[in-house]
Amino acid sequence: MLKKIDHLGIAVHSIAEARYFYETVLGLTCEKEEEVASQKVRTAFFSLGETHIELLEPTAEDSPIAKFIANRGEGIHHVAYCCTDVTKQLDQAREHGCRLINETPISGAGNKEVAFLHPKSSHGVLTEFCSGEQQ
Ligand code: ZN
Repeated sequence: MLKKIDHLGIAVHSIAEARYFYETVLGLTCEKEEEVASQKVRTAFFSLGETHIELLEPTAEDSPIAKFIANRGEGIHHVAYCCTDVTKQLDQAREHGCRLINETPISGAGNKEVAFLHPKSSHGVLTEFCSGEQQ
């Protein structure tokens, strides 16, 4: 079961440069920065009520985020739904014929379980399921 939108992932060239907009213009507070080596990204989380903004900066040229920015420029990269059981949510999507990027949950930022659905199966929006435990 989905509980809420956990975060919006936004691809940026540089977290250091993007911070100005999120901190100074919007007035949000950065909770933490973390490098996720398996995904070749650095992340920065800003809280906003019950949800978060996750900035994603590539740490390598072959990072999926580097490819995304090269193809489409900076911008919204994914929508993440907090769910009670990531594995069940994936099974349900599979049963409905969705293409999955992760067949089983992987470890994401904050050591949460995460899994992605292919954007071709979700009308152009890369969709992430993540577990409920907050970082
Ligand atoms: Zn995410």
